Amino acid sequence: MSRSACPALDVRPEAQDMSSMDVDTIIVGNGPAAMLLSYILHGHLPYYSSNPPHPDPLLHAKLRDAPELLNADVHALTDHFAASRLSYSTQALPVNVLLDTLVRPSVDIEELGGITNVEWRYVPEKAVPHLVFGDAPRAGGQWTDNPVPASWDIQTLSYASMLSLPGYSFAEHYRKATGKELPAFTRPTREETADYFCTYPEAVRIDDVFRFSETLSGISRTENGFHIRSHNIRCKNVVLASGIFTQVLQPRPMLQPLASLQPTPEVPLLVIGSGFSAADIIISAPKDQKLLHIFKWDPEGRPSPLRGCHHQAYPEYAGVYRLMKRAALAAEPAKPKRGKMRRASSTPFLETRPWDDIYEGHPNTAIVAVEMQEEQALVTFRQSDGSTFTRPVRGMVYATGRRGSLEYLDSELLSEVREGDEATEISPVISARTLRGKAFEDIEVAPDVFIIGSLTGDSLIRFAYGSCVQAAGKLISARAGQERVRGGSNNNSRPQSSLGVMRGIDGHDISPPNESRVVDTDRMTPSIPQKIMSGGLWKWLWGWSGMKS
Ligand SMILES: Cc1cc2nc3c(=O)[nH]c(=O)nc-3n(C[C@H](O)[C@H](O)[C@H](O)COP(=O)(O)OP(=O)(O)OC[C@H]3O[C@@H](n4cnc5c(N)ncnc54)[C@H](O)[C@@H]3O)c2cc1C
Repeated sequence: MSRSACPALDVRPEAQDMSSMDVDTIIVGNGPAAMLLSYILHGHLPYYSSNPPHPDPLLHAKLRDAPELLNADVHALTDHFAASRLSYSTQALPVNVLLDTLVRPSVDIEELGGITNVEWRYVPEKAVPHLVFGDAPRAGGQWTDNPVPASWDIQTLSYASMLSLPGYSFAEHYRKATGKELPAFTRPTREETADYFCTYPEAVRIDDVFRFSETLSGISRTENGFHIRSHNIRCKNVVLASGIFTQVLQPRPMLQPLASLQPTPEVPLLVIGSGFSAADIIISAPKDQKLLHIFKWDPEGRPSPLRGCHHQAYPEYAGVYRLMKRAALAAEPAKPKRGKMRRASSTPFLETRPWDDIYEGHPNTAIVAVEMQEEQALVTFRQSDGSTFTRPVRGMVYATGRRGSLEYLDSELLSEVREGDEATEISPVISARTLRGKAFEDIEVAPDVFIIGSLTGDSLIRFAYGSCVQAAGKLISARAGQERVRGGSNNNSRPQSSLGVMRGIDGHDISPPNESRVVDTDRMTPSIPQKIMSGGLWKWLWGWSGMKS
């Protein structure tokens, strides 16, 4: 890389001195977290801005005279949060809650008000030379991948302001792209969000360090840093920003041929899964498409993430949840069987299609046989009471969850990160829970190895600020020759949280390792949609929604 091509390398003369290191820091993944960290590592440093003061007077008092946020003492700043009148999240990591409330102090009252208590000061001499590698073809991580074939028109769960990264907000992007002001409480479509992230690196001038369609592998620790075998790069620090949504859980081989059948409206499309991705497929389907929906139903033990969706904020998800609930109630032995949709339980979304005619839901149902015919398949299902039934099916979407993978680390480094026993094989598969305990202790999960973004277990973008600021603080201090403290900074002695914050997005609704799944044996493959769907369904979805492939 030429020095002129990378401003981060230009700023410090030491960068020239890298005979044994190609670059100081490598970031694996090019999603929102990687972009945010890169922005900071380019020299944009966060400070508390006290005008107007933060609505929490105690927090304001603590930060007023010590506004530097990069190496903030998280414990000291957040130890009063549990008793505060403000409703701070008790589920996210304290550092993530801290930065979230500072970046958007009044998001609940005025979504687009733009009030913030964080000022980003440009201090180029603090920049850290780094490179960002992502296998996605554009910046945006899982937002550009879309490994489950949902329509690009599906709206995000978050409001636009909560998807915004520093220096170039979603609202600014919207203004630039459309010439209009972004209405408050907009939930942008997946396509608009992907477009925003794709534009972001150039808009804030950090694009020089981004490398797209590049998959890193074989990362190992060396005497004085790390070596990346796939690209023959050496570096001092590695930041894992590879997320927890790259791998789609796969159906067992018996079901796989179903995915290649081209759906038609008259023959049911089989949808398997109880979360957002399954709901997205149902919402995305053509209005006359028949749907056969198989889902896990355990409202007491592991409720569907859709249950938390309010019918006003998320009418489509709440609507799909109602369809599922109604099917589950109808399946209960003592209850009256499914009748027509009652008017009282209807919503505008449920009025949009003749659901009684097109939707058939079955909770806790296993597939016991698949007989492939010419253009359709006959599938036999077994319900929890042991009874079986058979239906013709054309097409299948298997949407039971996603995971991340750290397979790009060599086995020794993987065992350091996961703190396993080298004698037994450690799985590279990562869910929201896998590194959660370590993140509570320190986002530096092994010496000079950091995790940011969804890998920390808080996968909403609004909560990525904390881990990125903390990682940047450590990287910048190390670069300046200051010793950094390991451990403790995230741990404010509160009980370790459950993962309620993101319960719901696939990958968060996680079974304990030994819990068997209702529907099928899970398998993992990388999220290459064409491999999974081999044509048919994708063509159908994109054709229907008029979107590009
Ligand atoms: C369906 C869905 C909807 C969501 N909706 C919302 C929402 O509305 N609001 C919200 O805040 N969050 C939402 N999320 C959560 C999501 O975690 C965040 O939006 C965000 O994408 C997390 O960013 P990240 O940078 O941590 O990881 P990701 O966005 O997952 O990016 C990581 C990238 O790293 C790549 N990678 C992995 N390994 C390698 C390697 N070896 N080499 C190179 N690249 C690699 C991955 O392929 C991926 O592209 C949603 C998630 C899903 C799955």
